[in-house]
Amino acid sequence: MTSSYHEQLCDGWDQRFCIDALLYEEKTPLQHLVIFENRAFGRVLALDGVIQTTQADEFIYHEMMAHVPILAHGNVRRVLIIGGGDGGLLREVLRHRSIERVVQVEIDKSVIDLCRRYLPDHSQGAFDDPRTEIVIDDGMHFLEHTDERFDLILTDSTDPEGPARVLFSRPYYSACKNGLSPGGVMVTQNGVAFLQLDEVRTSAGHLNALFRDWHFYSAAVPSYSGGIMAFGWASNDPSLRRHSLKTIQQRFSQSNMSTRYYTPAIHLGAFALPQYILDAIGKSV
Ligand code: SAM
Repeated sequence: MTSSYHEQLCDGWDQRFCIDALLYEEKTPLQHLVIFENRAFGRVLALDGVIQTTQADEFIYHEMMAHVPILAHGNVRRVLIIGGGDGGLLREVLRHRSIERVVQVEIDKSVIDLCRRYLPDHSQGAFDDPRTEIVIDDGMHFLEHTDERFDLILTDSTDPEGPARVLFSRPYYSACKNGLSPGGVMVTQNGVAFLQLDEVRTSAGHLNALFRDWHFYSAAVPSYSGGIMAFGWASNDPSLRRHSLKTIQQRFSQSNMSTRYYTPAIHLGAFALPQYILDAIGKSV
């Protein structure tokens, strides 16, 4: 009989993946890490009982987290990634030729090492790109001690439990604000909105207290079951999310990239939120 991996994001409901082959399992000093093969999603990484990324659908999450802010900003050179140890986000960020430097701060070195080995399609060499600097540290600790300023800060974290709890706190958002260069933008992993609405609500409160312009955008990632995934967005430049379709189309075509999920129309449409999310974050549009 095939064994299975259960993920329970809320009381009374879970999702189950067949483990066709268990590739690696370890209790790292920080978290319980499992990598397995599943016939529907390919290789799957789970941490502390929560699916992090799968070979089959990772492009949706990583393209949307990287290309939306980079193309909205239009002149991103320095990027800070917090978390993201699988390397998929780093890969997508580095596809932009304008990027001069990416600092990636991951708290658990084992995640990077094991993903390089078992999920090499995620990073595709991005960890060895000369523009990349990897720092093994807590994202909050790093931001509190760096003088460097970034055009874009991406928080590709686990959910707000264990080591990632701090990455959903007001002091962390405030540290991100301080770490941004003028006109910079931050984007955060904010959970599956329907099941984790409190997470969105709490983040909205922090962003509202700190940033001139903030919102959420969304994408449906099949392995993050329960509906659309929310990305938090914050900047002190409101114009960044008010570009016309023509502007985003021009920037996208200049980037010379081909994508599998991202399109300029999806970029703009992703900021249109369902009413239940607008109600939760206290916005009317
Ligand atoms: N895309 C995924 C998702 O939506 O769930 C997240 C993937 S990535 C593997 C998450 C990474 O965040 C993990 O490797 C974890 O070690 C890292 N992480 C958690 N807390 C952190 C912290 N405080 N500082 C830096 N990295 C952290």
